[in-house]
Amino acid sequence: SIGSQRVAEPKKDVLLGGLLVPGFDEHSCASRYQAAYYHKDMTRPASPHLIKRLREQEALQRRCGPGTEPYTRASERLRSGQTDADDVDGCSYLVLISYRGLGNRMLAMASVFLYALLTGRVLLVDRGYGDTLTGLFCEPFPGTTWALPPDFPVEGFKELGEDAPESYGNVAVNRSGSVSALRFVYLHLDHAASQANRLVYCDDHRQFLHRVQWAIIRTDQYMAPGLFFNPAYREELDRLFPSKDSVFYILSRYLLHPTNDIWGMVTRYYNSYLKDADERVGIQIRVFDSSDKPFQQVLDQILACTSREHLLPAVVTTEGVAPALPAAAGARTTAVLVTGLSSWYHDNIREMYWKSATTSGEVVRVHQPSHEEHQLWFHSKHDMKALAEIYLLSLTDRIVTSGWSTFGYVGHGLGGHTPYLLFRPMNYSEPAPDPPCARAMSMEPCSHGPPAFECTRKEINRIIDTGALLPHVRHCEDLSWGLKLT
Ligand code: GDP
Repeated sequence: SIGSQRVAEPKKDVLLGGLLVPGFDEHSCASRYQAAYYHKDMTRPASPHLIKRLREQEALQRRCGPGTEPYTRASERLRSGQTDADDVDGCSYLVLISYRGLGNRMLAMASVFLYALLTGRVLLVDRGYGDTLTGLFCEPFPGTTWALPPDFPVEGFKELGEDAPESYGNVAVNRSGSVSALRFVYLHLDHAASQANRLVYCDDHRQFLHRVQWAIIRTDQYMAPGLFFNPAYREELDRLFPSKDSVFYILSRYLLHPTNDIWGMVTRYYNSYLKDADERVGIQIRVFDSSDKPFQQVLDQILACTSREHLLPAVVTTEGVAPALPAAAGARTTAVLVTGLSSWYHDNIREMYWKSATTSGEVVRVHQPSHEEHQLWFHSKHDMKALAEIYLLSLTDRIVTSGWSTFGYVGHGLGGHTPYLLFRPMNYSEPAPDPPCARAMSMEPCSHGPPAFECTRKEINRIIDTGALLPHVRHCEDLSWGLKLT
């Protein structure tokens, strides 16, 4: 049974075809088993092989995770630098550094989890400043924790950068260190990482990384597309994901469950403003401009997109038209969910539907949960709103997102929606791009820092078109050097 449903709901497959395991305490994380009642039924099922591998990963996380003897031994080895002692436990670890905005962090968590699964490592996630991890997300693995213990013995690991002696680029390319002397290897996969560090994507982990018990990874982006270039993973990835266009969709539904406080915000908002509409349209507005001021050109671009793609009803432009009787019962209702840091776009769209009738007689309601005005980092109340809004976007039916925005990628990816992507203007004061938006190729997020070389040649100084190597890895619509799965 799922919480206290007042009316009998049709029975839902809350475990999503075996993607989720039963047995978690339902009350401590209501979203895990309630989400199926809010999301559409999954359009892409998890493959039997993925389900099997998830169960194996859960067992690994339990056997080697924090609080176990193998973990204590492994942390002691890391602390003391005793890298040559035999590892009797068969446990190796991947520690994810948390940094940047929430969208970035969610893309990183989902794709680094995939990397952990492929390389047989236990995933541990840095709690972030102010322990934002555990306040935002439930534990994904039963009987253990994925939160990195506070006594993690590598001091200052959050400050590791590309130049660190332990960085993969230094070790693998410059040969500036010998693997056996390293306490850990640092994988620097920030979106702006050097090509040398991106060689991680091509690592045949059986030869090099495999020998290192601890790996620390920094990434602010979606690393999944790059993993498909590695011949060592290709067959396994094909079995895990028979359809390549839904890697994030499936993994995010498995991994990222909001905590009860956030889930309460999501469901109250949904039930109050979105549930009863005939259609829900999401509009995610992200303006990359430090002034935080609104731009008329961005509003023009959004309206040009929603009109061109028939996402919002047209309004009557002539004046003096007699209004109709109170909206007849049965008049179609569209609820528009606007998200953004500014309220100005929302106010203008809402006012448009206040001042003018729709040509079709449809009723349009426009809602925006919050307008935080400025981006903040690792600020718990602010992050909670951001996560609630990302989740609400995933509960819409059709969605317009802002190009380049990881917040938008997660909103549509989690919902399994192929978005209408607004092209990012490089100068917001200039007229909006024409066309204003395009329907994306797939529901997948765009990877902003993929490898630009081929794994069999590893020629990092000769940049090639990696968007032309594999049929299901293509250049993103919104970012020419980015890659996405299709
Ligand atoms: P990106 O910068 O668009 O790729 O997305 P990120 O999520 O990584 O970083 C943007 C951050 O700004 C978010 O995590 C929020 O902290 C804040 N932010 C941006 N847009 C919104 C929004 O629509 N609603 C809320 N609540 N916060 C937002």
